[in-house]
Amino acid sequence: MKIAFPHMGKLYIALGTAIEILGGEVVVPPYNNKRTLELGSLNSPEAVCFPYKLVLGNYMEAIENGAEAVLMIDSPGICRLGQYSTSLRTTLTDLGYDVKFINFDLYKGKLKELYIKFKEATGNANPITLIRAINMALLKIKILDDVDRVLAYYRARELKEGDADKRYFRGLGEIEAALGYKEALKAKNNTIKYIKSTPIDKNKEIVTIDLVGEVYVVLDQFSNLDIEKELGRLGVHVNRQINLSDWVQASIMPSVLRFGKTHEEKARSSARSFLKRDVGGDAIESIGDVALAGKHHSADGVVHLLPFTCMPEIVAQNILPNVRCKEDIPVLSLVLDEHMGRAGYITRLEAFVDLLKRRKRVEPKVHSLSTAII
Ligand code: SF4
Repeated sequence: MKIAFPHMGKLYIALGTAIEILGGEVVVPPYNNKRTLELGSLNSPEAVCFPYKLVLGNYMEAIENGAEAVLMIDSPGICRLGQYSTSLRTTLTDLGYDVKFINFDLYKGKLKELYIKFKEATGNANPITLIRAINMALLKIKILDDVDRVLAYYRARELKEGDADKRYFRGLGEIEAALGYKEALKAKNNTIKYIKSTPIDKNKEIVTIDLVGEVYVVLDQFSNLDIEKELGRLGVHVNRQINLSDWVQASIMPSVLRFGKTHEEKARSSARSFLKRDVGGDAIESIGDVALAGKHHSADGVVHLLPFTCMPEIVAQNILPNVRCKEDIPVLSLVLDEHMGRAGYITRLEAFVDLLKRRKRVEPKVHSLSTAII
């Protein structure tokens, strides 16, 4: 069976590896692009949240490219994510697509459900291979987050624009191709070595920005118009506060297998004085991340990304002015949707970065630790 799944940042690298180890055949849809969004928007309710439209577009393009089964997630929660798989299934069926739906029902538990659904998708019932596949996927997710952190440092300081990214993409191919632990770790070390060979100006005037918000748009370069790269170009060291491994820890990993507090748990406790209860999605994490950045002076400013009509992040956006005043940290909220214009978006980023640079010259607060070389 040819299996497909939607994009979410670089998740396709980890999930594709797991399915390959289990003997399945993967159809990776084209990375999110204008056509994906057009297909998704055309067949979605207008007011549904932005990630839904891209996910639907991914499924449609994957099925056009020969996918026979699609993986979906039924997730507990109090936002629209809980309705995603039902609505997507109905839409794809109404559109006449003949495809098998394989639902990871996270209401039913995590590891057991992963085992059952991977078995259904790939036909492989060997628990040892399954454990190996899951471990490899988790390792790759950790590797991808680690190399992204190194890239953020070099991107902000590179002498020639795009140099660090070129080296990063060279390594990314090696990470993607690795099927064993040693191979994956070697690919990680190579990638870091390539990135570190980028000529940089260590004395460049840098500001640090924490990137927070709804996980899908924070991770997806198409939705956020490649914000990390744009900020890097402006001399910004970006610390992405919500990563793929945080999402996997919180959403997929059973609590008994976790080490220490998850990002969500840490953010939740620092958000407590501003928001007492979970309002769904990543809202409480957005608030907690801004509060933490202000309290620890770990960033010069924060960019908060939210998809248009995302209910939890609209709540967060309305609470953030309080956090900003109490913790004395500048915050820029950017709403993302299919009507977003690139020029206006970049202008807002440039103005925000200018403001942070001027503020920093007058009152340097940020700990050097946060911008230290990794
Ligand atoms: S968090 Fe927001 S954008 Fe994400 S699924 Fe929920 S409502 Fe949609």
